[in-house]
Amino acid sequence: MEYISTRGGSAPLNFEQVTLAGLASDGGLYVPTNWPTISKAEIAAMAGQSYVDIAIRVMQPFVGDSLTESELRETCEQAYGRFAHSAVTPLAQLDGQHWLLELFHGPTLAFKDVALQMLGLLFEKFLARQDKHLTVVGATSGDTGSAAIDALAGRDKVDIFMLHPDGRISDVQRRQMTTVRAPNVHNIAIDGSFDDAQAMVKRMFADNEVTDRFAISAVNSINWARLMAQIVYYFYAASQLGAPHRKVAFSVPTGNFGDVFAGYVAAQMGLPIERLVVATNVNDILHRALSAGDYSAGTVTPTAAPSMDIQVSSNFERLLFDLSGRDGAALSKMMTDFDQSRSMQIPDNMLTSARDLFVSHRVDPDEMALAMRWAHENAGQVIDPHTAIGLSAARNAEIDPSVPIVTLATAHPAKFRDAVERSTGVRPILPKRIGDLFDRHEACTKLPGEYDAVKEFITSNASPANG
Ligand SMILES: *Cc1c(COP(=O)(O)O)cnc(C)c1O
Repeated sequence: MEYISTRGGSAPLNFEQVTLAGLASDGGLYVPTNWPTISKAEIAAMAGQSYVDIAIRVMQPFVGDSLTESELRETCEQAYGRFAHSAVTPLAQLDGQHWLLELFHGPTLAFKDVALQMLGLLFEKFLARQDKHLTVVGATSGDTGSAAIDALAGRDKVDIFMLHPDGRISDVQRRQMTTVRAPNVHNIAIDGSFDDAQAMVKRMFADNEVTDRFAISAVNSINWARLMAQIVYYFYAASQLGAPHRKVAFSVPTGNFGDVFAGYVAAQMGLPIERLVVATNVNDILHRALSAGDYSAGTVTPTAAPSMDIQVSSNFERLLFDLSGRDGAALSKMMTDFDQSRSMQIPDNMLTSARDLFVSHRVDPDEMALAMRWAHENAGQVIDPHTAIGLSAARNAEIDPSVPIVTLATAHPAKFRDAVERSTGVRPILPKRIGDLFDRHEACTKLPGEYDAVKEFITSNASPANG
């Protein structure tokens, strides 16, 4: 399988190359040259298979020659062996139509572990082959940082520098990053906002003084390997609920459009998905885009679901690429215009085909709290704010009552226990596996919100690409 850029201006890469590359050199995102398919008979057979077996079947065509089948199996077994539930991503029933897909049984209590545990192992394997050193630089508003640090801590040939806005993430989120003690993990608290931290990271990727000496890479969901790992649980859940004979709908709490794009890929691969509900909070660029064609960035409003407080959804470009008939030149122009004006009107024909599969909902804070209480009172389930936004959208999506709707439960409620307690009166307890989080020692470097200070710190602590 080869990968091409959504902007049509980069040479094709194989899976190993695309995993280490992140963003394409023309500014686009990598996508496979075609969507592989899985037959109805194979989907039916998945009902009795383990998560790892399904993962291997779904990922194999994307991985191609970059891993042998036994290497792929070993990687999946190692990644998913760290999950606290033996089903990896179990389903929980809420009522006759509504289900939760619990994606938070990984080491850091959010769904990002599903993809990043794989990615950490893939990095280590591919870097050993190429005898190369990688410097991962990222900015986080919470969940990505902790999942990436857990996945990369102690791995050979990779350093991770994670910036977070000082004092603006939850105690649990911060401690999940700063209490990981490994020589290749570097936490940086920036005096500034998440956007300031993110802007510094972007500037570093375009700084030749850095990129000439170091192989720097990102771990956010523009990385294809992350999306690939997320396709698996759509097949897992749908086959448990009767696919391919019965259609299933999914409701996805959405920020960067990564998780829900994985559902789109599952549909292209042959999984009979009735609808994908794109659930947003008040930061609703995707809802405006899918309902009215208005893809224009506003300013971010902080909410109780911080991982969805995003105004520009990077992975939306991958959908626009398909909707444009995979016309890289046309998309390159659309995205360049968008980068300048921060606004785009999606053409009617593209919008119409998007609506064959997607519906969207904007969920305000009251509706979110109501969904938390409903799940608690009707099914005894305590859910986190992100999941509650998905569930609220699912309940308002007017899906045919005979079609099961699966809401992706993207975070463990204990990760956002203050917000959960405010809405339900229940204070979720941290699972045993991270129960001593508040007794562990923290290590973190505080830096001013200035690019030069961050650059100086990273370049004097990272290893050169060929060192
Ligand atoms: C990252 C995250 C999301 C949003 O996922 P995207 O792939 O960015 O759309 C939703 N919920 C939680 C808890 C997250 O950590």
